[in-house]
Amino acid sequence: MRVIALSGSASGIGAATRKRLQAAGDRVIGIDVRDAEVIADLSTPDGRAAAIAAVRGLSGGRLDGLVACAGVGPQIEPWSTIVSLDYFGARGLLSGLRDLLAAGTQPAAVAVSSNSAVLPGMETALVAACLDDDEDAARRIAMGLDGQRTYASSKLALARWVRRNAPGADWARAGIRLNAVAPGAVLTPLLQAGLDDPRYGEAIRRFPIPTGGFGRPEQIGAAIAFLLGPDAAFCCGSVLFVDGGTDAMLRPNTY
Ligand code: NAD
Repeated sequence: MRVIALSGSASGIGAATRKRLQAAGDRVIGIDVRDAEVIADLSTPDGRAAAIAAVRGLSGGRLDGLVACAGVGPQIEPWSTIVSLDYFGARGLLSGLRDLLAAGTQPAAVAVSSNSAVLPGMETALVAACLDDDEDAARRIAMGLDGQRTYASSKLALARWVRRNAPGADWARAGIRLNAVAPGAVLTPLLQAGLDDPRYGEAIRRFPIPTGGFGRPEQIGAAIAFLLGPDAAFCCGSVLFVDGGTDAMLRPNTY
């Protein structure tokens, strides 16, 4: 039985991922602010430390998988909370539990980024502050941006952190695969809150999705399960877009 830690397990993509992994026989250690084995606020350094200590205790000293999925959307204020959870919460968990993965069997980790990370204008000073691991600076910068740019910049920094680290000594060369998924618009409570927000609702509705309609959390859960499993043994530092074709439509000449 694999042991897999999963943040954001109480809702949306995390809950769908949890269901799929458990159905396949995995033991999931959920980390969330509610309805989870580990109750912790990953937007604060103390909450992250508590989560890491609790997972350490529950895991029996090894993890075979780790999914950093917890996140809040662009409509959450103050905007500093977005970068503290969506970037530093994910990075903190990945770094803090890496040694448990090193003790696991065919271990793999997945970070949940977003296809909004590659929209024009998201290469902000926030990205550099995140990659410098300077949370105070990142929080200050976020307060001068807006929710959408803070969100997308945080997700860009997370995907870039994955790509910078995945091939290196701590991850691939330690036998741990690290990858990311970049979901498009998926109908979850997070997206619904954006749709209901007069500042963002119209823009989300206008976002082109070539396959038609929003994605379902289970479709992202399937991609995460793939990246965690043996069929993805040659995936390392990949950012897997699962977005109904939005990214291909907006950036056809990227490759
Ligand atoms: P969701 O709101 O359904 O789930 C998010 C989960 O994170 C919830 O269970 C929530 O309780 C938890 N959470 C919130 N704040 C937390 C905190 N401080 N500490 C610990 N846990 C906390 O949202 P979702 O759409 O399933 O989002 C999951 C991930 O997917 C997020 O990182 C989100 O940015 C990303 N994403 C979502 C979409 C989308 O359209 N839904 C698109 C791209 C990326």
